[in-house]
Formats: sequence, structure tokens, C-alpha cells
Amino acid sequence: MAARKPLIAGNWKMFGRAADLGEIAALSEAIGPASGAIDVLICPPAPYIGAAAEQVRGMSILIGAQDCSAVGADSARTGEISAAMLADAGALCIIVGHSERRTLHGETSDLVRRKAEAALSAGVTPIVCVGETQAEREAGRVADIVGQQVRDSVPEQSANIVVAYEPVWAIGGTRTPTLPEIAEVHTLIRTVLAERFGDQANAVRILYGGSVGPKNAAEIFSVEGVDGALVGRASLKATDFAAIILAHPAAS
Ligand code: PEP
Repeated sequence: MAARKPLIAGNWKMFGRAADLGEIAALSEAIGPASGAIDVLICPPAPYIGAAAEQVRGMSILIGAQDCSAVGADSARTGEISAAMLADAGALCIIVGHSERRTLHGETSDLVRRKAEAALSAGVTPIVCVGETQAEREAGRVADIVGQQVRDSVPEQSANIVVAYEPVWAIGGTRTPTLPEIAEVHTLIRTVLAERFGDQANAVRILYGGSVGPKNAAEIFSVEGVDGALVGRASLKATDFAAIILAHPAAS
């Protein structure tokens, strides 16, 4: 089986303005040839995707989106943005099911799966996020919760997806699971994917996300089964994000 190419994705969430797109050029400069060995993806807010995609022309940085409508066809849905529109603007990947959407917008795994299906139909790779809350971890329910989220959120139709394991309690703070805990959940996710996709599951990249920064990136990347990271805060500044990317063994 060919080795999975690492993917390190930055989720800018609802931060930044057009002027901050300059961080992308600074990032490209800072990581140099590392972007050949690692897929580097930036997901800016939707209004800036087109400009970001223009800016990365000639660079090996990829642009993605943070969410999409579950409805594929053009239709009367004020405020919704379809996967096809995001693809048209230059997005190659779309994050779906981020815990902020599941929690703040009540998104269920069923809705997340339909969003992922819409992304696939538009020719875009969905990055399907899963992860347990603190209470679920304390109750010893990590395998149940994450396993079920993967079963319900991942489309049947194609293994051309990325999965991001993001423990909800690790996002936006300072705490992360231990390295063996990360390894355990990544193994679980691949086992569930193999039930669905057989050998094709070996090609699916599984990212870790939740308080990844320049200081802990190298140890997280050393964990068996971790194919990269989904990074929030530390992706906003080129210097921090570059330090994370350069901490990956494939960068050297
Ligand atoms: C995220 O929101 O996906 C995330 C991982 O955030 P942070 O890196 O800031 O914890």
C-alpha cells in the first residue's frame, strides 16, 4: 500500500479579513519545499475563498472551505452555500461536522453525512470531523461515541474522504489527549472505516485536531496512524502554522 501523504489543514473559522490573506504568501515562503511532501490546506472564511485560491496560484498550498449546504442542487435557500459554489470558488476540500457546528448549530451526524455527500458530488473532498465531549470521555464512552459518529457521518459512496479526530474538550484550550489515547482512537476510526470500505480504508487520511501548536506538533505527528492535523488558532499566523508543518518528519 502506498504511504498516505500527510495533510496539515488550517481552519481559520470566523477570523481574519482580506488583508490577512497575506499570511498565505508568508506561509509558503516559510515552509519552502516542505509543501511538496505534505499537503498544506488553508480553510479561510467563505467570502475569502476565491481570493485565497487566486493567491495560491503557483504555490503548493491548497484552499478549502469550513462548511457547505447539505443540498447539492441550486435552489431557493437564502444564505446557504453549496459545495459546487465552493468548488467553483477554488475549494478542494470542505470541513463538515466540526464540533462548533454540531454544538452551536445542532448539526447531527445525519446532516453531516449529507453535507459530505454533497461535497463528494461536487468533486470536493470532505473532511469529516468526529470527537467526544469531556463528559463522554469521563464516562468511558469514547469508542461508542466516535465509532457511531464515523458510521453515521461518513458517506457510503466513496472512500475519497478525510476524517479528523477532534476531541471536543481539546479544541480551543490547552489540553490534549495523551499520545496513546490519540493512537487508540485513530486505530478505532480506521477499523470502522475498514468495515465500510475494506482495503480502501487504508488510503483514508485520519487527522488529529485539538490544541495542536508548535510545541506539541512533533510528538503528535509521531503517533502511529496520525496522518496530519487540523489546526485552529495556530493556523492564523504564518509563523506558528509553518512551525507546525516543519515539525512533521516528512518536512525534512
Ligand atoms: C479546531 O477548531 O478544529 C481546532 C483544532 O482548534 P484549535 O487548534 O484552536 O484547538
